[in-house]
Amino acid sequence: MSVQIPKTMKAIQVDAPGGPEVNVLREIPVPTPKEDEVLIKVQWSGVNYIDNYFRTGLYPKEYPYTVGIDVVGTLITTPPNFHLKPGQRVFSPASAAFAEYTVAASNRVALLPDDIDAKDGVSLATQGLTAIGQSKESYEVKKGDWVLVRAAAGGVGLLLVQIAKYLGANVIGTVSSESKAELVKQNGADHVLLSTADSAENVAEINKLSGGGVQVVYDGVGKDTWEENFEVVRRKGTIVTFGNASGAVPPFAPLKLTPKALKVTRPSVFSLINTAEEFEYYTSELVKIVRDGGLKFAVHKVYELTAEDVAQAQRDISGRGTTGKLLVHVSD
Ligand code: NDP
Repeated sequence: MSVQIPKTMKAIQVDAPGGPEVNVLREIPVPTPKEDEVLIKVQWSGVNYIDNYFRTGLYPKEYPYTVGIDVVGTLITTPPNFHLKPGQRVFSPASAAFAEYTVAASNRVALLPDDIDAKDGVSLATQGLTAIGQSKESYEVKKGDWVLVRAAAGGVGLLLVQIAKYLGANVIGTVSSESKAELVKQNGADHVLLSTADSAENVAEINKLSGGGVQVVYDGVGKDTWEENFEVVRRKGTIVTFGNASGAVPPFAPLKLTPKALKVTRPSVFSLINTAEEFEYYTSELVKIVRDGGLKFAVHKVYELTAEDVAQAQRDISGRGTTGKLLVHVSD
């Protein structure tokens, strides 16, 4: 397949740390893939909480940078002898995603099968890989386990709830509103508690429901829920802290783990799923779970590739009013 690649493209960029208003729409050169990279024409990009960490400077970035991670799109060029071909539809946790074209490492690209909707495919990238990586590698969920998922109605949260159920766990979710609680129950959680309720009551309820504490807490909230995690996890349990939506978790002494012989792990999705084999394995696992009917996707809102829309998407995801996936529509 030979297609005309334009010289320039629209992209959202950031020049310096700041609020959502620092996102700007620019015309920039279409990137040239290196030897081991593919070029993707982007159809959909995913909005992630991490976009805020880069924009505010919590996670370091070189400036200017093109915003966004996660795309679904069409392969335009591929390295020689690559197992995928130009014209195929793929998903990828590619960086520089809020742009008409992006490059991705060839070992971070997976075929999106025809039976999965393009919009849904975006959730299989960073958020899906995070959810499956946590539930298989950070703590391997087993049938009958009690699992607590924080921010359970969010992008990662809603996927974690479903994957933990698929793996046979009893799932408790925490969320900040009744409407989110309803959505999380519809997605399979056995119990959902409001994080706005009294903490001592929630702790007592989680311990009662789980018969003495959960085997694992998956926590992308961070600072606000950190201390409570130690009260709801059972002896020899695991706290997986993987995000900072409410702020970063404070430093702590290992002795804090002693009374219950706890484990704490703080992975990133790509410290869990790093090699080409791991990427291939877990993307295939996600597709299998979708086909088994174990994963459904909830799109909260679609935004356009404009500075205003991207700023609004970032305000929305940090404003706690969103559920499931937020998408940027880039091309038809
Ligand atoms: P979400 O869609 O889950 O949005 C964040 C959610 O966090 C909100 O909806 C809100 O749910 C909850 N929250 C709790 N406290 C606050 C607060 N003070 N301000 C804002 N939100 C708050 O986002 P994502 O699915 O994109 O990401 C979820 C978490 O996972 C993030 O912390 C993200 O950084 C992390 N992550 C980590 C990865 C890794 O590799 N380690 C990879 C991907 C994501 P509620 O109102 O119900 O509490």
